[in-house]
Amino acid sequence: MDAGDFLTHRLQNAVGRDNVFEQEPLCRHTTFQIGGPAQWLVLPCKEPEIVAINALCRETSTPLHVLGLGSNVLAADEGVRGIVLKLAERFTGVALEDEGRITAQAGASNDVIAAAACDAGLTGFEFAADIPGTIGGAAIMNAGAYEGQLSDIAEWVRCLTPDGCVIKLSAEEACWGYRKSSMMEKGYIVLAVGLRLTPDDPANIRERMDGLRQRRKAKQPLDMPSAGSTFKRPEGHYAGQLIQDAGMQGHRVGGAQVSPKHAGFVVNCGDATAADVRQVIADVQHAVRAHTGVTLEPEVHQWGF
Ligand SMILES: Cc1cc2nc3c(=O)[nH]c(=O)nc-3n(C[C@H](O)[C@H](O)[C@H](O)COP(=O)(O)OP(=O)(O)OC[C@H]3O[C@@H](n4cnc5c(N)ncnc54)[C@H](O)[C@@H]3O)c2cc1C
Repeated sequence: MDAGDFLTHRLQNAVGRDNVFEQEPLCRHTTFQIGGPAQWLVLPCKEPEIVAINALCRETSTPLHVLGLGSNVLAADEGVRGIVLKLAERFTGVALEDEGRITAQAGASNDVIAAAACDAGLTGFEFAADIPGTIGGAAIMNAGAYEGQLSDIAEWVRCLTPDGCVIKLSAEEACWGYRKSSMMEKGYIVLAVGLRLTPDDPANIRERMDGLRQRRKAKQPLDMPSAGSTFKRPEGHYAGQLIQDAGMQGHRVGGAQVSPKHAGFVVNCGDATAADVRQVIADVQHAVRAHTGVTLEPEVHQWGF
């Protein structure tokens, strides 16, 4: 048995045959709809399976990537070596606890949690309802929109450390900042998140979610594949405005384009490669730096380059 077959066998033992895919195209698992094959794509159902795969990767020095809903990932055209652990498929439990608390497994999607919170008459999560990712993805980067961010409502995060310990971090220990956390810095896998929300009338909550959805629809190119805002917001500026001012709105390389609707988004016009997107990113950075002196930092996580 060669090393690849050995690993496939061990992965199948850990999570079952039906949950291991070899050479799985990542364009099927990212909102950009871009990306070559993952050597292995694995769909865990339970926490011990994630712990076992993490240990296997350590033992065999195999690279491990964690994927939620792929709404902030640009994967290389050549694909990604090692294991992609996709949590958004089968690790998605959401439980209502007492006193306005919700516990969600890391692969639970924000829209499902938002609907559960609304049905239970709990407010605070509306801002995240239309962020098209998982709660794990939201926790690792402190996702935010309009007037909210995850750190406003998260009480704790359960994580797996690279050396295999399951630990619970308080909100303080998560050290959330703008699109960052201690979990991201230390390479932890987020396993579950505890939220604390506030009672309110479901009709009011629904109305607020509808209002935010309309604002998004009006401003964002939601009909095109993308990974949302391509760049982080530079201090004191808006990335979209800087890109417009530098004359880069509409700039296109191959199938990738700075959205004519919202300059902060790079969109896939249908046949974009990861190389096209990276060239657009580099061109925009260059033009904005030349025009304003500001360096734009990509928000999208780039895999396999
Ligand atoms: C149309 C559109 C609109 C968007 N609007 C917003 C917005 O308003 N606000 C905002 O903040 N973002 C926005 N985004 C970006 C994106 O949805 C968020 O960043 C989201 O939180 C990513 O979650 P995900 O599950 O898709 O993560 P993925 O894209 O799957 O992963 C992103 C990164 O997080 C890591 N990661 C994911 N899950 C875990 C985990 N459990 N443990 C450890 N690491 C993990 C991955 O390894 C990867 O590096 C938007 C994207 C799109 C396409």
